[in-house]
Amino acid sequence: MTKSRVARKPALMKQILEPARQIDVIHETEVLVVGSGPGGLSAALAAARAGAQVTMVERYGCFGGNITVVGVEGMHWYRHEQTVESMGIPKEFEDAAKDEGAAVPESQSLSYEIDSEGFKLVADRMVEEAGIHPMLHRQFVAPIMEGDEIKGIITESKAGREAILGKVVIDATGDADVAHRAGAPTQMAQREDLMAASVMFHLAGVDKRAFVEGVKADPQTYADWGGGGEWNIETSGKEDEMFSPFLHKPFAQAIEAGMIPAALNTIAGTWGAMHDTGELTYMNLVHLAGIDGTDPDSLTQGEIEGRKQAMLAIDALRRFTPGCENARLRNFGMSLGIRDTRKVDTVYSMTELDVREQGRFEDSIGIFPEFIDGYGILILPTTGRYFEVPYRNLLPKGIKNLLISGRATAGHKVAHAATRNMACCAVIGQGAGVAAALAVRQARALDALNITEIQAELVKQGARVH
Ligand SMILES: Cc1cc2nc3c(=O)[nH]c(=O)nc-3n(C[C@H](O)[C@H](O)[C@H](O)COP(=O)(O)OP(=O)(O)OC[C@H]3O[C@@H](n4cnc5c(N)ncnc54)[C@H](O)[C@@H]3O)c2cc1C
Repeated sequence: MTKSRVARKPALMKQILEPARQIDVIHETEVLVVGSGPGGLSAALAAARAGAQVTMVERYGCFGGNITVVGVEGMHWYRHEQTVESMGIPKEFEDAAKDEGAAVPESQSLSYEIDSEGFKLVADRMVEEAGIHPMLHRQFVAPIMEGDEIKGIITESKAGREAILGKVVIDATGDADVAHRAGAPTQMAQREDLMAASVMFHLAGVDKRAFVEGVKADPQTYADWGGGGEWNIETSGKEDEMFSPFLHKPFAQAIEAGMIPAALNTIAGTWGAMHDTGELTYMNLVHLAGIDGTDPDSLTQGEIEGRKQAMLAIDALRRFTPGCENARLRNFGMSLGIRDTRKVDTVYSMTELDVREQGRFEDSIGIFPEFIDGYGILILPTTGRYFEVPYRNLLPKGIKNLLISGRATAGHKVAHAATRNMACCAVIGQGAGVAAALAVRQARALDALNITEIQAELVKQGARVH
């Protein structure tokens, strides 16, 4: 981890005393999952399938996290012929989306790109079929603690402040909101070292034939990645000649033509899928440095600036990209996309070596192919190599009855560039869900579980643990 920091707090901030109040316990459950992205949804499904009573709390109006809320549609874009898959729930997300008409072939891999709107329905169906109690439109605001044990959460919503109790709580908020407020040690890089934030968008009105011909006439590769910031990467060499749906030239031309200010040479990136209906989706082109996803003022600035930059990008595409002449904005993601915030200090912190050199662990809860994407590195899993994720990586130090799922688990930044990927977050989630269900069933502490039993249940659920 790069330099960590202390919270920003002006010395002379005016303060008020919030009066204590009695609040209703509106619900009690065995496994309480907070957040419903790849890490939360998979945790809830796995816990329910392992026989636990499960409740999932989500601040927005749909499940799916970054997939549905931000519009991150490329969940398996790393997959090539030799790629060894995690199987289990991450694969199920893709298969279900495909079967239910919510996925199209992805442009650079042997995978399907998940439709961010359609996946809302896929997730609803999965939640319903698994018997998970859904609680949308409730934001976690505080943990309910007895000493160092978490007993539940307090939410805020249109209904006011409410308490929900759970025997095991899974923090799948991405930002480690629950762990942080519960007092677990967390770390966050300095603003300038955080991965960029992005406003994602999707286009309509693209002439597919002309666009595809333009791509064929000037195919881009991973070696062409470049432009300011996020897209300056090192590969392992084997990626360099491979096709990448990368767009940089139209924005360089727009800078040349004075349509985009030269300082915005950070506008560049990938498109995901060109649909028969003229939609060009998962436009990952806007990258904003220095945005702190735990600071609402910074988020506000990122949303507004990101939307401005997206419109500049669309102008450039209309002028300089074949097939995009009549393109128009279909939609922005519902929220700015945040890649990088707090990491919880878990019992095991993933190392750079673990993800680069096929880490193996006796307490593995799942495998993930050697796919590293972030912090200036791109390695695609083209060789069949993979690493394992240990159960200890999900166990926060200092707080009982709490597990961490998704992108907030501890690790070196290069490890995070692997584990932050949505399919890996879902691997972690499936492990967390199974462990939580076993802890409830056996009335045992999370750090006293028998790993062989966790692994057996994961294998029964179709996941690969070694
Ligand atoms: C722009 C962008 C592009 C990306 N591209 C890719 C890609 O191509 N492929 C890939 O694999 N990964 C990609 N990633 C990374 C990936 O999307 C994330 O790392 C991953 O989604 C993290 O999963 P998660 O479940 O931990 O968190 P999230 O997906 O962020 O889900 C967290 C959920 O918790 C909810 N929540 C948060 N706080 C609270 C609260 N206080 N109370 C209640 N609910 C709360 C949120 O609303 C959300 O639904 C990208 C990320 C971004 C931002």
